[in-house]
Amino acid sequence: MEKIQKLIAIDNMTIHIIEDAESNITMPLFCPICEFIMSSAFDLEYYHTYSCCKNCSLKFAESRKTEWKKGWRPSSGEIEEFKNYLRLQSPCFILE
Ligand SMILES: [Zn+2]
Repeated sequence: MEKIQKLIAIDNMTIHIIEDAESNITMPLFCPICEFIMSSAFDLEYYHTYSCCKNCSLKFAESRKTEWKKGWRPSSGEIEEFKNYLRLQSPCFILE
């Protein structure tokens, strides 16, 4: 699968946007579930399948594939709890 990377410079930050050349899917900058930045090729792959980042896919979608495809999403409380967990795991998102 060919990946195209675009670079966008916003103020002092450089943000990588990864596009999937085959399926022509453009990944949004931020995950629609946890609202964390999505920047890796893994995020693109999971976004392709679950329409959210890798972390949310592993946490919420993979264990409930059928419900997820039918539109089930975690409650805002569950998402907040997971975001707090993610904040502890990764001090910041990857920027160069
Ligand atoms: Zn997410």
